[in-house]
Amino acid sequence: NIAARAVDAWKVYGSGEAQVIALRGVDVELEAGHFTAIMGPSGSGKSTLMHCLAGLDALTRGQAFIGETQITGLSDSGLTKLRRDRVGFIFQQFNLLPTLTAEENILLPLSIAGRKPDPDWYKTVITTVGLGDRLGHRPSQLSGGQQQRVACARALVAKPEVIFADEPTGNLDSRSGAEVLGFLRNSVRDFGQTIVMVTHDPNAASYADRVIFLADGGIVDEMLEPTAEGVL
Ligand code: ADP
Ligand code: ADP
Repeated sequence: NIAARAVDAWKVYGSGEAQVIALRGVDVELEAGHFTAIMGPSGSGKSTLMHCLAGLDALTRGQAFIGETQITGLSDSGLTKLRRDRVGFIFQQFNLLPTLTAEENILLPLSIAGRKPDPDWYKTVITTVGLGDRLGHRPSQLSGGQQQRVACARALVAKPEVIFADEPTGNLDSRSGAEVLGFLRNSVRDFGQTIVMVTHDPNAASYADRVIFLADGGIVDEMLEPTAEGVL
């Protein structure tokens, strides 16, 4: 069961002298219920690959799929629906709305989509995320790790087919980072959540089931059951 897939994926930015080839014919399948990390040097195409798989950016050539849906063929409104209903995002900068409480932030994507959370599932997510009585606090009243856990809960509560996380621990100390990664890891183990994470941190990658290494726009290696030492 494949949750996301790229087939001969090319991405070219600009033209002429300024042309940059960010992806050079990437083929990859991401299995449902797995936690995949994407690693590689700065500029190797990690963000581009993730954005094109998530429907945030369009490939120049080739195809990208979420489940059976070929997102390269979707209209703008089709893409908006895909991003709203089928994928979740976690960013390095948390991207919480400062005027809303943690709980309101968690529920925001659902309310925008006009959906109500399944009460049992909502309770499970809220319990697992471990914010306790801080659910009524605004982001500015929370630590970085707590803010990122709010962002994780916001992504998880809509039960997306894939969660895309772009350097989710990039702004956190190692202890807060471990809490966020443990939460992501457990959401794979306990709920079968599919996660794709871009990271340059070997310790973060060790939480994944599989690491894909990019260099210069292509996949150059991969590793199953990675360890922090192994991906260094
Ligand atoms: P990574 O996430 O591995 O750092 P990126 O996917 O961000 O790599 O970038 C891959 C290459 O594409 C880099 O050379 C980068 O400068 C270039 N690039 C990324 N986004 C753009 C853009 N919007 N316009 C032009 N070049 C871009
Ligand atoms: P719990 O007590 O719920 O298992 P932890 O945060 O200790 O919470 O761990 C969450 C998940 O992350 C567990 O599945 C654990 O196996 C995994 N995990 C914990 N530490 C690491 C690590 N350093 N590298 C990889 N996976 C880890």
